[in-house]
Amino acid sequence: MLQFTSVGQDYPEKRAAGERAGDFDEISRAFEVAKAEEQSSRCSQCGVPYCSTHCPLHNHIPDWLRLTAEGRLREAYELSNATSTMPEICGRICPQDRLCEGNCVIEFSGHGAVTIGSVEKYITDTAWEEGWVEPLTPGPAKGQSIAVIGAGPAGLTVADLMRARGYDVHVYDRHDRMGGLLMYGIPGFKLEKPIVERRVQRLKDGGVVFHESFEVGRDATMEDLRARHDAIVICTGVYKPRAIRAPGVGAAGVVESLDYLTASNKKGFGDTVPLYEDGTLNALGKHVVVVGGGDTAMDCVRTAIRQGAASVKCLYRRDRTNMPGSQREVKNAEEEGVEFVWLAAPEAFHDADGSVSGVQVTKMRLGEPDASGRRAPEIEPGAEYRLEADLVIKALGFDPEELPKLFDAPDLTVTRWGTLRVDHKTMMTSMDGVFAAGDIVRGASLVVWAVRDGRDVSDRMHAWLKAKASAEVVAA
Ligand code: FAD
Ligand code: SF4
Ligand code: SF4
Repeated sequence: MLQFTSVGQDYPEKRAAGERAGDFDEISRAFEVAKAEEQSSRCSQCGVPYCSTHCPLHNHIPDWLRLTAEGRLREAYELSNATSTMPEICGRICPQDRLCEGNCVIEFSGHGAVTIGSVEKYITDTAWEEGWVEPLTPGPAKGQSIAVIGAGPAGLTVADLMRARGYDVHVYDRHDRMGGLLMYGIPGFKLEKPIVERRVQRLKDGGVVFHESFEVGRDATMEDLRARHDAIVICTGVYKPRAIRAPGVGAAGVVESLDYLTASNKKGFGDTVPLYEDGTLNALGKHVVVVGGGDTAMDCVRTAIRQGAASVKCLYRRDRTNMPGSQREVKNAEEEGVEFVWLAAPEAFHDADGSVSGVQVTKMRLGEPDASGRRAPEIEPGAEYRLEADLVIKALGFDPEELPKLFDAPDLTVTRWGTLRVDHKTMMTSMDGVFAAGDIVRGASLVVWAVRDGRDVSDRMHAWLKAKASAEVVAA
């Protein structure tokens, strides 16, 4: 260990931009065993590991780095698996520069952080290859059943941990494939789909019952589910796209980011997607403008490149240093041919015969910091120009849907942002025995936080169900 002065930081090699822009496969090659061991040996085994403090799961990072450096990979896997239900997924898509790696002391000393995410991915990918990933074995049957609404990372984590404790677990999801945004939001070049599918299959093999294409609110009310199950957890994520208010926004060719990304992911499975086939959600040969600066916008621009767009521009109202998306993703996008137009906002959408033909752009500048400390963008008067566009993708983020209305559950209370209000100690909503976790509580966040919430809510539900069972025994 402590090799950081003699061994330089090295991430797994990225495929050349020209090659990777032609497919939807992940862009990085895997670590070789020697490289993983060497990179792990750079860790200085801090007594107070800030990497771990800043990992939402508080993963035992220095310990599994040491085991990897010593060639004890199976033990490293077991330790990594103890705190996470999907380490190989977090290792791929966490914004490590803002979490574990961004807080590694070696980074602060100027030697470059330990490449924690890549090692984490390597450990669990190897575990899958070697057959070390244990099947999900349910504990002794509890005779109690839970409903999980939503099969994203939060819901899958609950399903995993509660089934292991012996509960009957039913997962309801409105999509035909399980995984939530892991499956239909995040593109394959960040997270290949078989990685998600094998996690879902493990849960199915362990007896978790998935109700696919089942939309709560349409196919059942909350009361229906409460009658069927002892407890419920809502993990439905946030899906209401934020709107752009500008003339011409209703023109054909101005589309929602998630419709666009979902269509692309479905095509990746070989599905027939009429709106892709007819060109509505396909960037081939088009001048594409994506509006937004977060993860979703980054995924849209890079998808458009892979679909064969004639040009791809990303319009963002702040500058590079003030954007919410990962700098790593901006770099990847630039390498692949995306042009970023900083300090720019759409003022209107031009249309020709009802279809978008261009975007009227107004230049912005950064004013004084607002209440959150971020410098607020303001219009720079008289600086407008037009960008050619025949596909505009709106990627301004998401708000929660109106769940009390959708679920016909007026007793379900929400915050002023529309997220579900929970008691933060019990993680229970305003309805008895109905819990909530993930983005629907936090607002749009990260996969690793959804896993953390899924882990926490499982503990709370387990305690509540145990108390309920004891009370029923006493009453009998
Ligand atoms: P979700 O993953 O949204 O899953 C919710 C599930 O609930 C869905 O399957 C949905 O179909 C289902 N559902 C909703 N309503 C109903 C209903 N009424 N009945 C039945 N089922 C229902 N995070 C990262 O950490 N790294 C990234 O690189 C990253 N990239 C992203 C890219 C995009 C395009 C987007 C949109 C988000 C990205 N995120 C990323 C954020 C991350 O995906 C989310 O924070 C995370 O998936 C939230 O997990 P969740 O389980 O709460 O909800
Ligand atoms: Fe880092 Fe994410 Fe892994 Fe935690 S889960 S160690 S933040 S990559
Ligand atoms: Fe190792 Fe960096 Fe974590 Fe310290 S902060 S334990 S050096 S990975």
